[in-house]
Amino acid sequence: MKNFTFYQPKTVAQVVNLLDTKWGKTEILAGGTDLLDLQKEYVAQPDKVVSLSGVAGLGNIDISQAKSGTAVKIGAGVKLAAIAEHTELKKLVPALTQTAAIVGGPQIRNIGTLGGNLCQRNRCWYFRDEHVNCLLKGGDKCFALPADAENRYHAIFTQGHKCVMVNPSTLAPVLLAFGGTVEVQGPKGIRVIDLAQFFQAPSSTGQRETVLSPDEVVISVLFGVPAGHMNASYEVRQKQSYDWPLVQAAASFNYADKKADAVRIVLGHVAPTPYVATKAQEAITGKEITEETAALAGKAAASGAKPLGQNGYKVKLVETAVKRALLAAVGKKYWE
Ligand SMILES: Cc1cc2nc3c(=O)[nH]c(=O)nc-3n(C[C@H](O)[C@H](O)[C@H](O)COP(=O)(O)OP(=O)(O)OC[C@H]3O[C@@H](n4cnc5c(N)ncnc54)[C@H](O)[C@@H]3O)c2cc1C
Ligand code: SF4
Repeated sequence: MKNFTFYQPKTVAQVVNLLDTKWGKTEILAGGTDLLDLQKEYVAQPDKVVSLSGVAGLGNIDISQAKSGTAVKIGAGVKLAAIAEHTELKKLVPALTQTAAIVGGPQIRNIGTLGGNLCQRNRCWYFRDEHVNCLLKGGDKCFALPADAENRYHAIFTQGHKCVMVNPSTLAPVLLAFGGTVEVQGPKGIRVIDLAQFFQAPSSTGQRETVLSPDEVVISVLFGVPAGHMNASYEVRQKQSYDWPLVQAAASFNYADKKADAVRIVLGHVAPTPYVATKAQEAITGKEITEETAALAGKAAASGAKPLGQNGYKVKLVETAVKRALLAAVGKKYWE
């Protein structure tokens, strides 16, 4: 690991003052479950590391009643374990608490934070290899694209993308399915970004997996939950712990009179950003959720996929994950 200067500011304003306008020189440290790995692998080589551990005001979960339902605000410093174990959140948004409860293992959940989860770097093995300089590390090509590339864990919605990694966060699709926003603070003050616009498909060293500027810090995530709201997330995993899923589907909708309305279905681990499955949303809107309608929505979700050499298997997993997320949301877990 390269030597660096360690800073422990006390306020968000002090954090912002310590950040740089270009990526690479300074990194924010939250739980360190990703950043320290990147440093040990020489993928991140910052001169300055700015710790959030002593910063006030990032560790709260606030739940309040609003006209349109329940408003939730979760600080960027809240640990994944605290989200997983939160009694009110468990009732309100099981998709979120159950997803947080299966991230990594207990050690990762006890130290990893919400902000770090949303801003974690991608897991493409070419990117993580210090000797490989792909598009995101100053090189001129993506090593996952050639016919003989090892790309079984990469994107299947690849159109228009020069980099075909998948966004690694499993909380992101769920929060996006809730129509969440992110509050970030930079030199010009606070701005609120719709989560649908927060993630981006990077294609050069100057870009990351989010639209965050190098001198901005995530301070919280906000979302609203209407009364009678249904939600669930289903992950297809090769390993039950200490790994990321192969495919994830998060579903959220209102279900008055057994008709799905305001449906949001978001896929994880299939594209460089969380992928909003609009065709699946259209397919299930206005319908009762049954095995048949959920299966049709699953098929619609996978339509348009353009898999790479080794990951055609993900198409079927998308169909299954969407079907099961929809059924789980209405309490029909027939596969267990
Ligand atoms: C074996 C293993 C399995 C895992 N499985 C999963 C999984 O299934 N699903 C999943 O979602 N994740 C998974 N993870 C990733 C884990 O969730 C993340 O490592 C963790 O959430 C990152 O949080 P952290 O607080 O440790 O972030 P750090 O490592 O401290 O930071 C991660 C990145 O985010 C930036 N950052 C941190 N906080 C902020 C902030 N507030 N504002 C701006 N930038 C910030 C840092 O600069 C850094 O680039 C797994 C990790 C491991 C090691
Ligand atoms: S998928 Fe992205 S991160 Fe992986 S080698 Fe290609 S450009 Fe690099």
